Amino acid sequence: MAAGARAGTIRGHNITGGYLVRALTISAHGGLERLEYRTDLPEPETLGPHDVRVRIAAAALNHLDLFVVEGLPGVTIRPPWVLGTDGAGTVDRVGTAVTAVRPGDRVIINAGVSDGTCEYCLDGEQPLCPNFAVLGEHRPGMLAELIVLPAANVRRIPDSVPFDVAAAFTLATLTAWRMIVTRARVRPDDQVLIWGIGGGVALAALQIVKHIGATAWVTSGSDDKLARARELGADHTINYRGVDVGRAIRAATGKRGVDVVVDSVGRDTWAQSLGALGRRGRLVTCGGTSGPIVETDVRRLFWNQWSILGSTMGNDAEFDEVAAQLTMGRLLPPIDSTFDLADGRRAFERLASGAQFGKIVVRVS
Ligand SMILES: [Zn+2]
Repeated sequence: MAAGARAGTIRGHNITGGYLVRALTISAHGGLERLEYRTDLPEPETLGPHDVRVRIAAAALNHLDLFVVEGLPGVTIRPPWVLGTDGAGTVDRVGTAVTAVRPGDRVIINAGVSDGTCEYCLDGEQPLCPNFAVLGEHRPGMLAELIVLPAANVRRIPDSVPFDVAAAFTLATLTAWRMIVTRARVRPDDQVLIWGIGGGVALAALQIVKHIGATAWVTSGSDDKLARARELGADHTINYRGVDVGRAIRAATGKRGVDVVVDSVGRDTWAQSLGALGRRGRLVTCGGTSGPIVETDVRRLFWNQWSILGSTMGNDAEFDEVAAQLTMGRLLPPIDSTFDLADGRRAFERLASGAQFGKIVVRVS
């Protein structure tokens, strides 16, 4: 656990006695050359009555982490900014009012922090909170040995779940669960198209769709990824290179189309997503990685009685539901690769390459 001896430090402790924390940070926005592995951050020691401190064992990367490095409109960082929107570890301290967890409990972490007092929070819809903040984006993240966060954002997990799996599980599964179960209300007789299999949310969506018993169509530009998706239960696969996916699905379904499309790509796929969508279809989106502005023919929207559904992260009840799935050993995420915290930049480069199939994990402690 020692952070290494340097001037002014003795075996990871600074001269005032506080523990020095290792972390992956940025001090300015830009490319991945901005990533800095630090071994000298001060220990977070101040806990509110409803807070816990968690010793992070493993973190996992999400596309959002790349956006944070590049810089997001309206989001200001305080250097050195700790990255990381997914993590799992062991509770280390608890605030005076915390009863749900105790020091020593193994936990997963929900990166979405809400105020708990607005009309949406009181209605159980925390991701709609006007004061919603994301760990790693608006608050210090999980690519650090220690983090302080509200106790409402942790759930206990059993010893049977390894920390790397737990870290890889949470944000992608929570996001996909809200999209598939809550927003699109996928039923066993539905056909569901999922873009870009290989990414964390798409893979979690595939697993949830198959858990429900519905039919899954998946796309990728890689035949290798499509073969691996079939091993995970995908019923139909389409390599989107040189193909209009909407037209291909209409041809393969006797012009009927699918009931649900999961599209977090945005500009590059929107028209094809609508082309694939059958009557009373639901398109659910949690992002636009290729670009945010899309075009929709409103005549087709009303004539086909489509629903366009936005979704982001998950509420507390959904966090309970996915934590229960993890505890039962279900919906376990495929892990693409694992890196040490000191090699965090390589983990980010792997994510940026788009070559991964599954989650990229960073070992923290
Ligand atoms: Zn709120």
